[in-house]
Amino acid sequence: MTETTLLFRDDAYLSTAEARVIGVNDRGGILLDRSIFYATGGGQPGDTGTLEREDGSMIQIATTVYGDSKSEIVHVPAEGSALPAPGETLVQHIDWTTRHRHMRIHTGLHLLTVALPFPVSGGRVGADEGHLDFDIDGAVPAKEAIEERLNALAAADHPVSTEWITDEELLANPGLVKTMSVMPPMGSGRVRLVRIGDIDLQPCGGTHVQSTAEIGPLVVAKIENKGKQNRRVRIRFA
Ligand SMILES: [Zn+2]
Repeated sequence: MTETTLLFRDDAYLSTAEARVIGVNDRGGILLDRSIFYATGGGQPGDTGTLEREDGSMIQIATTVYGDSKSEIVHVPAEGSALPAPGETLVQHIDWTTRHRHMRIHTGLHLLTVALPFPVSGGRVGADEGHLDFDIDGAVPAKEAIEERLNALAAADHPVSTEWITDEELLANPGLVKTMSVMPPMGSGRVRLVRIGDIDLQPCGGTHVQSTAEIGPLVVAKIENKGKQNRRVRIRFA
């Protein structure tokens, strides 16, 4: 097993960084000592981008996934790409336009859990839209009311920050977990919390913008009935 330093977790705004190749796995996935590429997880797609070699040639990265553990990041090259040699130094570039849209939608979904305070059973982040599945027993507030509250929360420009707690502290505070079906990754001894001003605090390993005004105006595109109490709420950039 190899370990990657997860640069994206401490600084979601890194769009380029140097790294050393520590291996190529048996499926041709590239392992680096440090990575700015977010790996598919928590409903957010893995980053795409390029790895720039010393001779100036580029390796296209089609997606990024976790390997054998949550500390191994696998950069999946586009089919037919040349592969780097272990020990080689290269420069990572992520597709920043797409990643930044993921960060805006993802942070918008945190605000949606404030605008619509019901338990969450699933979700998905995209570059144009995202959704959360809520467990709502009874009437669902009107689309327009949710949208108005959501945009007011974003426009209030709350700062977004991260902090860490131990597994034990999380277990002692189950109210922190809004997602019923997806418990945050535990077992490494600590869990990352994402705080939005004084309005939201929840465990999350994703990438976020640093203040909510950066999300920009959103619309609640659709509320779908996905089962007994399951209501899927879709948000989109206005
Ligand atoms: Zn998050």
